[in-house]
Amino acid sequence: MNNQLIVLSGPSGVGKGTIVNKLLKKGGFALSVSCTTRQMRTGEEDGKSYFFITKEKFESLIKEGGFLEYSNHFGNYYGTPAKFVKDRLKTHDVVLEIDVDGALQIKKAYPRAVLIMILPPNEETLRTRLKGRGTESDERIEERIKRYNYELSKRQCYDFAVINGDLDKAVAEIENIIKEIKESKHD
Ligand code: 5GP
Repeated sequence: MNNQLIVLSGPSGVGKGTIVNKLLKKGGFALSVSCTTRQMRTGEEDGKSYFFITKEKFESLIKEGGFLEYSNHFGNYYGTPAKFVKDRLKTHDVVLEIDVDGALQIKKAYPRAVLIMILPPNEETLRTRLKGRGTESDERIEERIKRYNYELSKRQCYDFAVINGDLDKAVAEIENIIKEIKESKHD
């Protein structure tokens, strides 16, 4: 099997969601749907954006070994469901959109996983994008910028970094990375 586990990480506001949607539209990929204990936001759908579950259910799944990885963000759990991903890997390349801590856990357990970090051209661009969303307080934006700097400090643990200045270019770059990996890795 030459299907790849592809992990995309990057700070909030960098455009990961848009990139993932573009990749999915092009076909050939399956997206892993994570579990979370956070509240559903307007426009989100259970089973599509996330599986929204309780803290109790999440903790019992941890005990059962139900997650490939999990982490805690701003007081909520997020995790990658093991069975969901393993089933999809049988037929597709699987994209995980997860944070840096989760990505490093995945790499430890699955050294063949490909880690791609998506970055903004610079911190100011990220701040402008986050402000442009108009959904978060200045304090929350600064928290996200702090998190961005932490994620950036893990850059060397990633196999690739892609700068999302121009969306189509970033998507093409990721597609190329995956294509090259598939051509170079054969079982
Ligand atoms: P949000 O609440 O904005 O959807 O996501 C917050 C953060 O959680 C993002 O950085 C996102 O990449 C991360 N995240 C989403 N799903 C998972 C997951 O399954 N595992 C881990 N470790 N992080 C996740």
